[in-house]
Amino acid sequence: MSAPVVFAKQTAPDRLPSHRRAALLRDPAFGTVFTEHMSTVRYREGKGWHDARVEPFGPLPLSPASSVLHYGQEVFEGLKVYRTDGGRAQLFRPDANARRLRRSARRLSMPEVPDGVFLGAVEALFAADRDWLPQEPGSTLYLRPFLIATEVCIGARPAEEYLFCVIATPPGTHFAAGTPAMTVWICDGYTRAAPGGTGAAKCGGNYAAAMAGQAEAAEAGCDQVVFLDAAERAWVEELGGMNIFFVFDDGTLLTPPLTGSVLPGITRDSVLSLARARGYRVAEEPYRRDQWRADAAAGRVREVFACGTAAVVTGIGTVRSPAGEFTVPGPAPGPVTVELRTAVEDIQFGRVEPPENWTHPLR
Ligand SMILES: *Cc1c(COP(=O)(O)O)cnc(C)c1O
Repeated sequence: MSAPVVFAKQTAPDRLPSHRRAALLRDPAFGTVFTEHMSTVRYREGKGWHDARVEPFGPLPLSPASSVLHYGQEVFEGLKVYRTDGGRAQLFRPDANARRLRRSARRLSMPEVPDGVFLGAVEALFAADRDWLPQEPGSTLYLRPFLIATEVCIGARPAEEYLFCVIATPPGTHFAAGTPAMTVWICDGYTRAAPGGTGAAKCGGNYAAAMAGQAEAAEAGCDQVVFLDAAERAWVEELGGMNIFFVFDDGTLLTPPLTGSVLPGITRDSVLSLARARGYRVAEEPYRRDQWRADAAAGRVREVFACGTAAVVTGIGTVRSPAGEFTVPGPAPGPVTVELRTAVEDIQFGRVEPPENWTHPLR
């Protein structure tokens, strides 16, 4: 299917009156309220991508023998539509999401969604559900593109039929600016990704693997879990769904390198680029959990933050593990955390001129 892709449109029969939509938009729990439509595109081996549609949001016809339900061929993306200060709607680096989805799909032996299909599905959904992005500058609408194996076959091999779908959910105050610094749990017992595994692919299986660690974190009264490397359990990798940065007293920023078990976050990449442009020295280097504790005690680590599309840039204050607790000194979020969050959001909300191709207007 060559771009531009035409999405056949079937409008939801009973559109929500605006006051009902406004009520649903009033602080929904994240990921529980969905807009009225979804984009869907099918793939079959030999036929390729076909049957692009925008249709009413609703249950998918899915055989209980669909291979995704048995062998987990599922990959996804997460991106937002941003309402700018000027009242426009725009995406932030959607080409990077499209590229990452292709890489994730390749790792799970799934067909790559062409970039034109990815962007076309996002644009078609937004065109149908634009009313779900409030007019107030600073509003966002979270988009969840995903790809699943739908072939009716429980033979253990890559499926030959797939569905690509995009749904949208209003994020409410999930990780809104002013979110207090997080308390994190360093997980010793479980890892999320191993060398040669799927850690760099954005797939549901990684999240399933991370949930035991996240549950342990919640039990210890923590907001998020920090995973260590699988081989030595010594090196900090990332959170369950966010990358991590350390800010040192000499002004250096450090984040673990992309060695295959860390998800290549688009926010991570944007923070690295913006920090460099602002004159920070940035390092993509391995960092030991004991070094973190020692550097925090010595006052060398001044700030720690997590980043991702949902959290943007959110400070980490307290670190717990079975071995005890320590805090990152100083107020959190610290000045560098705030500076970089602002730098990212200024671009997302159209307050400053973006680097080339970082924003994509929606009509
Ligand atoms: C999606 C994700 C991130 C953040 O990626 P962004 O592109 O910045 O949203 C980080 N870690 C994991 C495990 C993820 O799934």
